[in-house]
Amino acid sequence: MAIVDQIAYQDVHGIRVGRFRRKINTTCYVYAWRGNLIDAGPPNQWKFVRDFAACQHIKRVLITHHHEDHSGNASRLLNAGTPVHAPEMSVSPLRDGFPIEIYRRIVWGIPPRVTPLPFAGIPEENGLHPLLLPGHSNDMTCFLDRQNGRLFAGDLYISSRASHMRFDENAPQLLCSLDQILQSDFETVFCAHRGLVPGGKSAVQQKRDRLRSLQAKARERQRQGDTEAEITKRLLGREDLMSLMTFFHFSKRNLIRGLLLPDLKT
Ligand SMILES: [Zn+2]
Repeated sequence: MAIVDQIAYQDVHGIRVGRFRRKINTTCYVYAWRGNLIDAGPPNQWKFVRDFAACQHIKRVLITHHHEDHSGNASRLLNAGTPVHAPEMSVSPLRDGFPIEIYRRIVWGIPPRVTPLPFAGIPEENGLHPLLLPGHSNDMTCFLDRQNGRLFAGDLYISSRASHMRFDENAPQLLCSLDQILQSDFETVFCAHRGLVPGGKSAVQQKRDRLRSLQAKARERQRQGDTEAEITKRLLGREDLMSLMTFFHFSKRNLIRGLLLPDLKT
């Protein structure tokens, strides 16, 4: 599989890479803007990321979070002479390794380990402001380009109609992060799996609102005595091929379970 898609929007460029093209979560975008490479792409797509980074004259790599589809080529880019910066909380999994289920190894490959630099050393004029917005993972970091009203969202958004969740995602934290980012000034969203999201900010708002509405319905059913399994089936239908293929690591029930947790105190 080669490059699935390319983006050129104003001065932002991106490539979409992946082994399997059918589902958005089996392909991933990396973006280039003003010498910054936002995410390093999956390890099994190295040659496309390498060529893209070279033709975009990349000066530094900014990792949004440690997952292998985002950080997978960080080590190779560093070995090729490009500094790699990542969130503080990503350092330990990137340096020491982290568990990767078999289906993820098949889709993305296995990332070489890397010790990244902090964001603190990045010159101010790079124009991107890192914001820690946990939930999808505890190190999930988005980059806000305030001057142009753009958000490089990593995996914060992915879809406004999420029906599945990974077992290790934190739904209450995700809802807080969505509330938080909606306070910021931006219009355009570059998502790591969806690409350029039309009406970016309102799409993020739709995601937050839909999750809140699903949460209200799930809590109401729980008050009426339904079990987690019954609530899932009622509100999202039976588990599908995606849940089965990931051995329920990524499932509808995870989403309902997460939404039934108490809200975080803010
Ligand atoms: Zn992720």
